[in-house]
Amino acid sequence: MLPQISFVVPLYNEQATFPHLVKRLNDLMDRSPERIEVVLIDDGSRDQTPRFMSDLALADSRYHALFLSRNYGHQTALTAGLAVARGTEAIMVIDGDLQDPPELLTQFYAKLKEGFDVVYAIRQKRKEGVLKRSAYYLFYRFLASISSIQIPLDSGDFALLSRRVVDVMNRMPEESRYLRGMRSWIGFRQIGLPYERDERMAGEAKYSFKMLLNLAYNGIFNFSEYPIKFITRLGVGTLGLAFIYLLYNLYRKFFYNDVPQGFTAMILLLTLFSGVQLIALGIIGEYVLRTFFQAKGRPLFLIRDQIVEGQPLPDNRG
Ligand code: UDP
Ligand code: MG
Repeated sequence: MLPQISFVVPLYNEQATFPHLVKRLNDLMDRSPERIEVVLIDDGSRDQTPRFMSDLALADSRYHALFLSRNYGHQTALTAGLAVARGTEAIMVIDGDLQDPPELLTQFYAKLKEGFDVVYAIRQKRKEGVLKRSAYYLFYRFLASISSIQIPLDSGDFALLSRRVVDVMNRMPEESRYLRGMRSWIGFRQIGLPYERDERMAGEAKYSFKMLLNLAYNGIFNFSEYPIKFITRLGVGTLGLAFIYLLYNLYRKFFYNDVPQGFTAMILLLTLFSGVQLIALGIIGEYVLRTFFQAKGRPLFLIRDQIVEGQPLPDNRG
């Protein structure tokens, strides 16, 4: 019998939290009426994590252990986990450091049963340093302000996804992955539930500053056309300045005749051609953007529900 729900848990050097993670998941599975599997993904750990994982998966068939060939990073590890998860109804994505309480499954699953396809967690309070917290805070607001789709504020990858949402994600071939953005892009009915993000159980955060920046880049460049539009706007602005400067100098020339020779023409040509060049770059950017969207190969649309000949088609949420 296939499991109804899969947990997908990426692990990178998490030997210190592993026993706690397993205990919490076991307790949860023991008291849940649903059939649950746990997909553990070893993202090229160099500690005891892979050994713990294989011991567990050999002894307990509810655990599915996946070992990646090297360290690929959190988003790719999740992608691998989503690809193998067999849950027929829903897939729960959590971090392996117990910052996302697995017990929220009960509450999330109830929402899924109400007809939502995505139940994502909204971090109410982060128990992390001030610097990291404010960086996250600013980043999410910045991304929301430039993004072409609505990405909910303060939500990470922690979410319960319906089978059909995961099927769509698995069919999105884009190479640089920003899963929380893809999740929003997919649409259907989504709801956010607040929770308090716990501190990491043990060990250190595996995301380095560089990796966080990289994630932020993926968020910005995969889900916003703004950077390219910005070039064009900058160009138009520069041209505007050039014209204002031209008019001003013509005015000074005819009424006061105090315009310096040479210098004025220099500045004028400089701003004029900077503007023209920026606009030209923006135009090229538009074509690159279109190629980029085409290359991502996302489906053009997804159908949420259908009524044909007076009959609603069965909802295929899994
Ligand atoms: N992780 C991973 N590969 C990596 C880095 C992290 O699979 O290259 C996992 C890690 O083991 C954890 C989750 O991704 O389960 C989140 O990582 P972390 O706690 O370091 O991120 P943060 O909570 O600081 O965002
Ligand atoms: Mg963490």
